[in-house]
Amino acid sequence: MDRTINTIRYSNRAWLIALTFTLWVCTGKFGLAQDGNTNPFIGAPDYQNTQTLLSDFRQSRLDYLENEDALINAFTLTKAQNWEALHKEAAALYSELLFRQEKYAVLESHLSHYLSETNQQEQTDIHLLFLESKLKTLSKAGDPEPGRALAKQLEAQIPQHTTEEKIIIFRALAYYYTDTDVLRKTLNAALEGLELAIKNGDIASQGYFYRKIADAYNYLSEKTKAIYYAKKAVDTYENTNDGLFTAKAHWSLGNILLEEEDTEAALVYLNKALDYFKKVDMRKGLAFAQYSIASIQYLQANYDTALTLAKENIELARAAGIDDMQLASMILLSNIYLKQGFIEEAEQVNDDVYSLIDKFSRSIYKAEFLSERYKLKRELNHIDDAFDAIEKKLFYTKKHYEATSESNIKALQIKFEVKEKEDKIRKLEYQKDISNLQAKEEYQQKIIWRLSATIASILVLVVLLLFYRQALQRKKYHRIASTDYLTKSFNRRGILKTAEAKLAQQDMAIAIVDLDYFKKINDEYGHDVGDLVLIAFANAAKDTLSNDDEFGRYGGEEWLFVLHSTDEKVIKNTFEKLAENYQKYCNNLDAFTNNINMTFSVGVSVGDKSNRTLDTLIKRADSMLYEAKENGRNQVIVN
Ligand code: GH3
Ligand code: MG
Ligand code: MG
Repeated sequence: MDRTINTIRYSNRAWLIALTFTLWVCTGKFGLAQDGNTNPFIGAPDYQNTQTLLSDFRQSRLDYLENEDALINAFTLTKAQNWEALHKEAAALYSELLFRQEKYAVLESHLSHYLSETNQQEQTDIHLLFLESKLKTLSKAGDPEPGRALAKQLEAQIPQHTTEEKIIIFRALAYYYTDTDVLRKTLNAALEGLELAIKNGDIASQGYFYRKIADAYNYLSEKTKAIYYAKKAVDTYENTNDGLFTAKAHWSLGNILLEEEDTEAALVYLNKALDYFKKVDMRKGLAFAQYSIASIQYLQANYDTALTLAKENIELARAAGIDDMQLASMILLSNIYLKQGFIEEAEQVNDDVYSLIDKFSRSIYKAEFLSERYKLKRELNHIDDAFDAIEKKLFYTKKHYEATSESNIKALQIKFEVKEKEDKIRKLEYQKDISNLQAKEEYQQKIIWRLSATIASILVLVVLLLFYRQALQRKKYHRIASTDYLTKSFNRRGILKTAEAKLAQQDMAIAIVDLDYFKKINDEYGHDVGDLVLIAFANAAKDTLSNDDEFGRYGGEEWLFVLHSTDEKVIKNTFEKLAENYQKYCNNLDAFTNNINMTFSVGVSVGDKSNRTLDTLIKRADSMLYEAKENGRNQVIVN
C-alpha cells in the first residue's frame, strides 16, 4: 500500500507539471459584470483623456479586466466621435480585452471587421496588435493551418519592422508556439523578444517573455531555470498594473515551487494569484489556483481541507468548461480518498475519470492517468481492469511520443541552442542594472550638488546678514557712544574724535564756549529749565554752523567747536550769529516769561604748523576763554 501511495503521490506531481505548461490560457473571465470601476477618465469624453487612457492600457498602467468599462467606453466614444486613428487603437486594445474575457466568438468577428479596415502601411503597430490577437485565437482553433500560415507570415516580415513592432510579433509567436507545443520556437521567440523588450524598456513585454521562458523550461524539466525566469516574471509584472498577468506570473511561480515541494513559498504565490482571480471573478483562473492549493493541502496531509477544495474545484472546473482541470481535480480527490482509507470512494472516482477519459486534451494526460489507474487496480486485485489500463497507457504513451517526437529528443538540443541567447540577455540585464545604478548615482550626485550649493548660498547669505547687522550695530553703538544724550549733539568723546580726525587733514580753529551765569538759571528756574537752555544752545549751534564745522558738549555747559576757518573775522562772525540764534531759542522757552539776556564766552585758538596738537589747541582756547570771562563775559577772544 505504501508503494501505491508513493507512486500516486508522484503521479500527482506529474499532473501538476503537465498542467503548468498547458496553462495559457488562464485568461477567461466568465459571467458577472464588474463594478467598482475606479478609472478617472470616465465621464470626461475628450480626445486627450481618451488618448491618455489608451496609452495607459498599452503600457500596462491599467488592468484590462478591472477597467473594462473604461475601455469599452473609449471604444464606443472614439467611434461616435469619428476619431479614426484613436478608434483603431481602442479597437485593438478591445480585442485584447475580449481575449482576456475569453469571448472568442465575439473576438473573431471583431477581428475580421477591423483587420479588413486597418492598413498595415499606415498604422503598422495597431495592425500588428490585431494580428497578435488573431494568431492567439487561431492557436485555439481546430484547424491548425491558418495559425501556422499566419505565424509564418509574421516571422517572414520581422526584419522590416521597428523594435516596438518586432516585440509585438515575438509576443504573438511566443504565445502561439507555447500553445501549439513547439518548444524550440517558443524559446527562440521569447528570448529574442525579451532582448528587444529589455533594450526598449518595455516592462510588461519583458514580464510576458520571462513567463513564457519559465513555462518552457518547466516543461523541459529544467527546474532551476524555470524558477529563475518565473521569479523574473513576478518581479517584472509587479512593476505594472496588469493584474491578470501579474496573477498568472504568481500562479506559474507558485506551481513550479510546488513541484519542487517548496510548499510554503508556493502557497504564498498561489494565494496571491487566487486573490486576483477572485477579485475579477475569473472562474478558470480560480480553478487552476485552487487546484494547486488543494494539492498543497494534500501534500501537507491536510486531507479534510484538501477534500473540500478538490470537490469544490471539480464543480468549478466543470462550470468553467475546463475538462483537463475537472479531471485533474477528480484524480486528486481519488488520491485524497486513498490517503483517508476510503478505498471504495477512491475507486469510484477513478472509474468516473476513466469513463470521461476522452475529455482529456492530450494523450500524455491519458497515459499518466492510466498508469495511476493500473497501480490502483492492481493493488485492489482487479486484474482485468489493471491489464486494460496498462494496455491503454502504452497506446497513449506511444501516441504522445508520435505526436511530439520533436520534444524529448530535441529538448537537449534546444537547451544548447538557446544558451548563447540567454548569455546575451544576462549581459543586457547586467548592463541595464549598471546603467540604472549609474543613473541613480548621477541623480543623487546632482541632488547632493544642488543641496550643497543651496546650503552654501544660504550660509553666505546668513553670514552676510550677520555682518551687515553687526556693522549696523557697531555704527549704532558708535553713534550712541559719541552722542550726548541730552542735546543729541556730539559728546566729549565724539567731538574730540572728530577734532582729532579734522586736525590730521587741515588747518582749523578750536573754540571753547562756556555759557555765562548758567548756575543762576539753574538756581532761579530749576535744573530742568537749565537742561532746556542747553538744548536751545545745541539747536542754535546746529542752525548756525556750516557743514564743514562741528561742535559737541565738552562738559556741563561747556562746548568745543571745530571750525574749518582760521580767519578771525569769519570766526567772530560765526559766534555773533550763534549768539543771535541762542538768544532766539531762549526767548522761545516758556519758562522765561520775560526775555532774559542769554550770553556765552568763547576762547579760540587757531591751528598752524607749529602748534598742531589738539591738546595744545584746547589748552590755548581754554586760557582764551578764561580771559574772556575775566574780561566781563559775552565775548570772543581769538589767539
Ligand atoms: P560763569 O559765567 O562763570 O561760567 O558762571 P556759571 O554760573 O556758568 O558758572 P560755571 O560755568 O562754573 O557753572 C556751571 C554750572 O552748570 C554748574 C552746574 O550746576 C551747571 N550744570 C552743569 N551741567 C549741567 C546740566 O547738565 N544741566 C543743568 N541744568 N545744569 C548743569
Ligand atoms: Mg563752566
Ligand atoms: Mg558758565
